[in-house]
Amino acid sequence: MRTRHAPSATRNLAITRAGIPAAPAVFVSPHQDDELLFMGAAIREHVARGRDVRVLLIGRGNKSSVRTRPCLQEMLDRTPCEKEFGAVRDREFEWSVRGLGATPIIPTWEDRLDENAVTPADVAAIIRKHAPSGSDLKTVSEYGDEYHSDHFACHDAVASLFAGGWTDMPPRYYTLCFRKQAVLDAGLRVVREGVSTPIAPEHQEPYKFVNVEESRWGVGDTSVRKFFSAQARDPFSYRVVETEPARLPALTTSPREPVAAPRPAPSPNVPARARVESWFRVPDM
Ligand SMILES: [Zn+2]
Repeated sequence: MRTRHAPSATRNLAITRAGIPAAPAVFVSPHQDDELLFMGAAIREHVARGRDVRVLLIGRGNKSSVRTRPCLQEMLDRTPCEKEFGAVRDREFEWSVRGLGATPIIPTWEDRLDENAVTPADVAAIIRKHAPSGSDLKTVSEYGDEYHSDHFACHDAVASLFAGGWTDMPPRYYTLCFRKQAVLDAGLRVVREGVSTPIAPEHQEPYKFVNVEESRWGVGDTSVRKFFSAQARDPFSYRVVETEPARLPALTTSPREPVAAPRPAPSPNVPARARVESWFRVPDM
């Protein structure tokens, strides 16, 4: 049972004269492009409300299959090394975050993590190092047919930092626009955010723009083009109201230690990408 910091325990939160929280809003992005696809309109909305909005990148971006795909090899006439590939993706991320009006936080390569090797404790350590305690944390939801272990790690790190008292502000979690029906089907509430700050083509451009001489490779769009198309049709953010942590165990260690939630691995017989394809559906609401 988690009683230490239920949302109703929110207290003594510093509010500025303008009536907005003084704590920075820190959106934790597991990988480059997650900030836009999961949380883009919400980021813009926080900016429009005058918040100090920062977007913290966790992954290195080095393990994407796009790096070794023929389309990229043909474009470059070579296969980039992981570090070069990750750096190009960082530039996409930085451009994207600035286009949303927020401040990118890109830790060093050493401070970040390889994809598929991320644990909640790792993510919590990165957040502690790069965001002030008491930050208003936001990240990806664990619901909506989410499958990526790195995304679960970011979710659990944020949940644990709140549960452990690192911040008093209840976290917010977001799902992809085309996954919201799956969240509703699971019986949870979904809140549309960014109604007056939708994502426009210019916000997606950093992940689509290609110019080899400028080291712009359009990696994001090559990687998950359907996600970008779905967002173009439904350009808002969808916050999942996670009233109770689904699988987060009670804190039995020091209350400031992050807790890793055990989670079954996806079926090894079904490639993750194929599972996403089978779940892909564009809602008509
Ligand atoms: Zn991701």
